[in-house]
Amino acid sequence: MKVLIIGAGIIGAACARSLARRGVDVTVVDRGSAVGATSAAGEGNLLVSDKAPGAELALALYSLELWETLRRELAREVGPQFASIEFDPKGGIVAAIGSREAEGLTRFADEQRRAGVDARVLGVDEALAMEPELSPSISAAVYYPQDAQVQPTIAAEALLASARGAGAHVLVDTVVTGPVRDADGRLTGVTTSNGPLMADHVVVAAGPWSGEVARTLGGTLYVGPRKGLLLVTSRMPQRIFHKVYDASYVGAVQSDDHVLQTSTVIESTASGTVLIGSSRQNVGFDDAIDVAILGEIAAKAIRLMPFLSEVSIIRAYGGFRPHSRDHLPVIGPDQDVAGLWYAAGHEGAGIGLAPATAELLAASLLGETPAMSVEPFSSGRASLVGTPR
Ligand SMILES: Cc1cc2nc3c(=O)[nH]c(=O)nc-3n(C[C@H](O)[C@H](O)[C@H](O)COP(=O)(O)OP(=O)(O)OC[C@H]3O[C@@H](n4cnc5c(N)ncnc54)[C@H](O)[C@@H]3O)c2cc1C
Repeated sequence: MKVLIIGAGIIGAACARSLARRGVDVTVVDRGSAVGATSAAGEGNLLVSDKAPGAELALALYSLELWETLRRELAREVGPQFASIEFDPKGGIVAAIGSREAEGLTRFADEQRRAGVDARVLGVDEALAMEPELSPSISAAVYYPQDAQVQPTIAAEALLASARGAGAHVLVDTVVTGPVRDADGRLTGVTTSNGPLMADHVVVAAGPWSGEVARTLGGTLYVGPRKGLLLVTSRMPQRIFHKVYDASYVGAVQSDDHVLQTSTVIESTASGTVLIGSSRQNVGFDDAIDVAILGEIAAKAIRLMPFLSEVSIIRAYGGFRPHSRDHLPVIGPDQDVAGLWYAAGHEGAGIGLAPATAELLAASLLGETPAMSVEPFSSGRASLVGTPR
């Protein structure tokens, strides 16, 4: 069987690996370089803490389990000369400021615990002992030991290298421009800037461009961009030990609001820089960096960790999360076009969800029984119907 995957980001790379290891003849095609788009623009949080009970949380728990094995397998497969993916099971601390936020946070943690998440309510003193730079004015905190982190660009590159090791081919600088169909209307390949590529199945894993690419191929997929900006500090000795964020982040992630959302999410990295995020904005592919938004992100971060006011910012950058209206990815076939598949719409969680997405996609495509139900991720689900393109 031949499968063509459109998009060499972390989702395409993970799908290529899962399929190639099952003996499928896989080609990954990208209009730019490999891992040159969204997967190189985000943080590398692998979070369960920000997910409400439901299908996305179940997918995140499954994916975390896979990351545990994957990090060892990748290290073995790509060898010691390949950079480390910097997997760090550091755990997350979510802190509230004010009594209303505190109530919401502890209620959310109770619900998550019932859904299988390890969520431990901390006293303020306990939280400060674990993260001494947290503001003493926080009103509540919850510790999530399952939260982890990777370096997303290296992790995606390692997945792609592993896929190539299993026989996958990667074509860069090749734009997919249209469908090739047989007499029955089945998709049998795509036209590209470098000529046609034929396949038994075509998987769209084109990140925030997935809706656009699906349309080009005659399919229907409601995935578009949701912009995010981040700040990067200069290197410093380690002063932040967990993934730390404020309780309003969960609301921002799950909000449908088209207006600007900012909330604090702070993460130290192995190189000593600290990533401070983030914003969420539905403004199409407008990539302007708005200094006022950076100021808002910085002010909120300083409220949570006051020492950050003394730290230099060396860089600000942004990217486009692949957004679907109900905040769930689409994993599975198009409803009308035979041969067309999707692995897209992971919004701000695609790094974390990549391994589980790939396993579910590969199992569905090959007619195996998937490890969990793929129904909630169907492209025809009710919560997407009527979504404007
Ligand atoms: C600011 C920010 C912070 C984030 N933080 C996190 C985080 O902490 N944890 C987390 O899990 N996720 C995070 N994310 C989300 C995560 O980065 C994405 O969900 C993930 O990278 C999506 O991967 P992808 O492979 O689907 O898309 P991409 O990496 O964008 O790959 C898609 C590829 O498709 C290619 N393509 C598009 N059109 C065509 C075409 N016509 N022909 C050929 N190729 C095409 C593009 O060139 C691109 O390389 C963040 C995102 C942002 C923007």
